[in-house]
Amino acid sequence: MIVAVASGKGGVGKTTVAVNLALAAEEEVILLDSDVEEPNAHLLLRPEIEKETPVPLLVPVFHRERCTGCGKCIEVCAYHALALIGRELLIFDKMCHACGGCIYFCPEKALTEGERVIGILQEGRAGKVRFVQGRMSVGEALAVPVIKKLREKQGAHTIIDCPPGTSCPVIQAVKGADFCLVVTEPTPFGQHDLRLLIEMLRVLKVPAGVIINRADLGDEEVEEYCRQEGIPVLLKIPFDLEIARSFAAGVPFVARLPRWRQAFSDLWQRLKRKGVRA
Ligand code: SF4
Ligand code: SF4
Repeated sequence: MIVAVASGKGGVGKTTVAVNLALAAEEEVILLDSDVEEPNAHLLLRPEIEKETPVPLLVPVFHRERCTGCGKCIEVCAYHALALIGRELLIFDKMCHACGGCIYFCPEKALTEGERVIGILQEGRAGKVRFVQGRMSVGEALAVPVIKKLREKQGAHTIIDCPPGTSCPVIQAVKGADFCLVVTEPTPFGQHDLRLLIEMLRVLKVPAGVIINRADLGDEEVEEYCRQEGIPVLLKIPFDLEIARSFAAGVPFVARLPRWRQAFSDLWQRLKRKGVRA
């Protein structure tokens, strides 16, 4: 069972839900932190990191002596990552999406494949939770290839902590999941971003359920929207002093509050029974 945990915007408790669910599940689960620009699940889970693997991208390497200046590579590159000045080819690394088009179409074999490291995967464990996070290198802009590599680490029971929003990295993190838990808060902003995310999940054909965080603040609009759209509200987490204390201490609240361990364990069981596509 692959469960993605997503939110239309940051700061609504998505990572908290992902970590607490991983800790409350009965089976050994793999928690993938795919928020590769700023992974922070490790701050709550505190895993022992055992292994780091670079994530390379295959980018063009220019061989000036073979180039005739024909310009074919410039025509082919949809990302404007190349510029030709006479027979000198400039490659703008950060704009290259590693599609391989210029290498394939260069008639003189003046472009060959080289590696550029754009991030790392860090793997470890916290108790029975196997943990893997992706982290982009400083200054890199391409999150999708790092998340793609991270998804190769998923197993039979996997929870994916997604990046916030509805952009390409989120799509890469969510697609193919059996179910998506959408974490939101009961405010107009929360409802707006929830709508966008639900529309995206419908296009991806990933079934969804909602978790409302800080459920006793704000208004009823999120629940009304869920009712109208037939989206189940699976859990409501109140604005609770004990939960806030746990968060401030950097401790997942299922570790301190048995009733919440039970609530997340029940949620996991419910997802296993009903949430998975046939
Ligand atoms: S690999 Fe693709 S994106 Fe990169 S420079 Fe070549 S054509 Fe452009
Ligand atoms: S396609 Fe090859 S030969 Fe033509 S300009 Fe580009 S690198 Fe040079």
